[in-house]
Amino acid sequence: MIKGVAFEPILHEFVGASRLVTFDRTDSDALFQALRQNQVDVAVFNKSIFEEKRFQHEYFDLEVVHTLRDMPRAYGFYFHASPANEHLVAVFNRYLAAIDVSQAVLAYEDGEREFIERYVLRRSQRLYWQAGIAVALVLAAVFLVALHRYRRLMRLVLERNRRIVRQQRALVASHRELEKLSQTDGLTGLANRREFDHALLREHARQQRTKTALSLLMIDIDYFKCVNDHYGHAVGDDYLRAVARALTASVGRATDIVARFGGEEFVCLLPNTSAVDARAMAERIRDNLAQVALPSAAAPHPVLTLSIGVATLVGGDASAQDLLVAADTQLYTAKRAGRDRVASVVLDAMQ
Ligand code: GH3
Ligand code: MG
Ligand code: MG
Repeated sequence: MIKGVAFEPILHEFVGASRLVTFDRTDSDALFQALRQNQVDVAVFNKSIFEEKRFQHEYFDLEVVHTLRDMPRAYGFYFHASPANEHLVAVFNRYLAAIDVSQAVLAYEDGEREFIERYVLRRSQRLYWQAGIAVALVLAAVFLVALHRYRRLMRLVLERNRRIVRQQRALVASHRELEKLSQTDGLTGLANRREFDHALLREHARQQRTKTALSLLMIDIDYFKCVNDHYGHAVGDDYLRAVARALTASVGRATDIVARFGGEEFVCLLPNTSAVDARAMAERIRDNLAQVALPSAAAPHPVLTLSIGVATLVGGDASAQDLLVAADTQLYTAKRAGRDRVASVVLDAMQ
């Protein structure tokens, strides 16, 4: 109970001092907290003040278990206890006794119950809303984190893809470079023997299909050994490069193929070129080299010369190898005839 209230002496009559807990008048809420935490069994308190506090502090778990109505009071209302008021108090008391408040009390109790129910419903709805908002916030946070991670991952994937594409391009470029190197003669920069072999098979197959003329020039430097012996291999290499340039300058068509066959031997494969044109081409090559006039002091010829064997396939079913052998045979014919010249043959259906 609250210390010092009018009821205190009466309470002392039937509750032992050891079982009575008193609270300070200024701290009545401590009494309700003690009740809620089961530190006391029953609180004795002014009913109307309790009702007010109950709604103010939501003490809906606390109930009034008993109302002591027969508290001895000099007056039932707040009238000063003077003889002048005695008559007024008597009138009020009669009036109160006459009023039937049972319906009002019932209505009040119903109203209170309804109010509490509505309050609890609102509060639970508010709780649902709060829980919903909390869940939505958590979901939004999870979504944002996931989005952030996804975008970071995408950036990473994009960067990796770019790197892969770059590496692929570098790989393709180096593959092309390697392919070119494998097809190129290191000394002269012309196509090498391997590339020529492929080209010969390819162009021969085309010739067989189209029945157009295919010419092959087999070119050999005359007395090249003398160049090496006289000027040294470095000069010999320079001469090989000069011959390569003369050959490249002589051929005109994009489909013509100039290759180093091996050592100081070269070939020109001329698709769609007649025997006459091929021979003219061979002469042009000789002329072009003659204009460069590479000295060859130790050889019977004072400047570097070429012997060229020409073979032209115009019909029949001679193989690529046949064409090569025929050009080689013509080359040695030219050599035997004194070098620095062209010898040619036509392979056709008659042969
Ligand atoms: P022929 O007129 O009969 O063709 O006589 P030749 O001296 O040209 O022919 P031979 O086959 O006797 O000699 C070819 C020479 O070519 C020998 C070889 O050392 C030289 N040779 C081959 N490849 C190279 C090369 O890459 N660089 C240099 N400097 N010389 C090479
Ligand atoms: Mg030779
Ligand atoms: Mg030679």
